[in-house]
Amino acid sequence: MNIILLGPPGAGKGTQADLLEQEFKLAHISTGDMLRNEMAEGTPLGLKVKSIVESGQFVSDEVMIDLIKSRTLKADCAQGFILDGFPRTESQAEALDVMLQERGVKIDAVILIEVDAEQIVARLASRRAPDGSRRADDEPETVRRRIQVYKDQTAPILPYYENAGRLRRVDGMQSLEAVHASIVAALGLDK
Ligand code: ADP
Repeated sequence: MNIILLGPPGAGKGTQADLLEQEFKLAHISTGDMLRNEMAEGTPLGLKVKSIVESGQFVSDEVMIDLIKSRTLKADCAQGFILDGFPRTESQAEALDVMLQERGVKIDAVILIEVDAEQIVARLASRRAPDGSRRADDEPETVRRRIQVYKDQTAPILPYYENAGRLRRVDGMQSLEAVHASIVAALGLDK
């Protein structure tokens, strides 16, 4: 089963993808984590994208599509994958469909986690990694920029999936467990 998780920054996509990964043995593909790893390791790609990511803007579609093309070919994706953070623009959504079609694979479900924008700013302002560190792009001002970029560039892809009857909405303003249960039900895996 291949799944796309959509939703604004701070919607809890990463947490929910981890839960789905554990329960259903699907590969969790977080483009944000992939880019942060490249940045931490100081790879050529990491150096190229660092200032873009830290300011809350989007990396180019071309770079992101190439990353996803190679990542989804890895062995851990054989049972299926969860895309978290991709696609984020209309051209990424279209490129993804073309790529999967060429491989004879499809996306089984697109889940939109809906949350309230103001609560996101508060949520991300207090977010910390397990070691206590904070993401450079979790500063309130940058979070607001990320929410605006989401509205301008990512929200327009919702009709792309909605018109094809592929979008399922889940209320993200519940407890982690309740959101997880809602996603599992939306995927029809709760039987
Ligand atoms: P969020 O917590 O805002 O959902 P992510 O951790 O998924 O953020 O991504 C962090 C940053 O990485 C984004 O703000 C953006 O700069 C970059 N990024 C991640 N995925 C993509 C993508 N598909 N297209 C362009 N940029 C991306």
